[in-house]
Amino acid sequence: MTDIKSMDLCQLTEYLSQAGEKKFRAKQIYEWLHSKHVRNFEEMSNLPKNLRTYLVEQCELVSLNTVKVQESKTDGTRKYLFALSDGNLVESVLMRYKFGNSVCISSQVGCRMGCRFCASTLDGLERSLKPSEMLDQIYAIARDTGERISNVVVMGTGEPLDNFENLIQFIKLLSNEDGLNISQRNITVSTCGIVPEMIRLADEKLQITLAISLHAATDEKRKALMPIANRYTIQELLKACRYYFDMTGRRLTFEYSLVGGVNDTDVDATELIHLLKGMNCHVNLIPVNPIKERDYVESGNAQVVAFKNKLEKNGINVTIRREMGRDIDGACGQLRRRHSQEQQSGGSEL
Ligand code: SAH
Repeated sequence: MTDIKSMDLCQLTEYLSQAGEKKFRAKQIYEWLHSKHVRNFEEMSNLPKNLRTYLVEQCELVSLNTVKVQESKTDGTRKYLFALSDGNLVESVLMRYKFGNSVCISSQVGCRMGCRFCASTLDGLERSLKPSEMLDQIYAIARDTGERISNVVVMGTGEPLDNFENLIQFIKLLSNEDGLNISQRNITVSTCGIVPEMIRLADEKLQITLAISLHAATDEKRKALMPIANRYTIQELLKACRYYFDMTGRRLTFEYSLVGGVNDTDVDATELIHLLKGMNCHVNLIPVNPIKERDYVESGNAQVVAFKNKLEKNGINVTIRREMGRDIDGACGQLRRRHSQEQQSGGSEL
């Protein structure tokens, strides 16, 4: 079956011309898929019956099924658990900010990067998501809420640069004017730092924001938290960041999850300042969200504020990420994991 929703307009036009269809049909179908977000071919009411039948027989229309929605009582954040057509589950989050709605999507089912504090990676990688499966997380949320979505962050489960081609196609479809038309400047991709893929991404010259999960200022500390640090040093990582900036003109974001007693001391702040001094960047501090499988603890509030102040005093742009949806398993991979475990143990209160 052809995954028609992963095609851009050119590919769709080419595909339909092989079936003897005119060019304008591609545009009509593209609109049904990416602007009206229909869930089956029968709804494409301006297509002739024989074309609809052809599509039903030849194509798959990827559309996720909502398994569970949880809404935070404190900040309106909505967390979705979706089922893919093969039964795999992915999670996505809608965050409502003053500046607009932001959706956080998953790029893979599971993850093989092995970061120590992250729940998404505990069972390894199942498979990568197709462009259509990434897109439909956003479409499903738009359908569900009827609200406009202005920002997308690829910060859910998975390592986006471990799914490179599909990620690029997804970004192109998402920012296309005949689809949701989300500006690339409002799309952020977060990576644990796969250096060669960062360089490849820079060469694509997209206008997206690249966020790097740094989490430590020395190789030794980073290796203890993130296996990827055994493959690339921080210096190699920063070199790739500078290349990304040179190619795109986009300021980088560094994510730094503060883990109590591990990377949140005054010395850690000093080392981080030393590392980032003079770089055009922004630091996002995230108090670690403890997962029960590991014994990492959150930094105390005073520690977080002291860390932030020290960076700020030294001229580094820094924000503390507002923790949204903590009451609803907001951290990567937690909802999917809990759901699967409850299914296995027979009872589910979800
Ligand atoms: N694989 C990508 C994107 C997914 S994770 C990456 O590594 O960047 C999005 C961010 O949340 C990353 O910075 C990740 O390190 C961080 N993260 C994962 N689990 C966390 C937890 N339990 N507490 C705090 N941050 C976490």
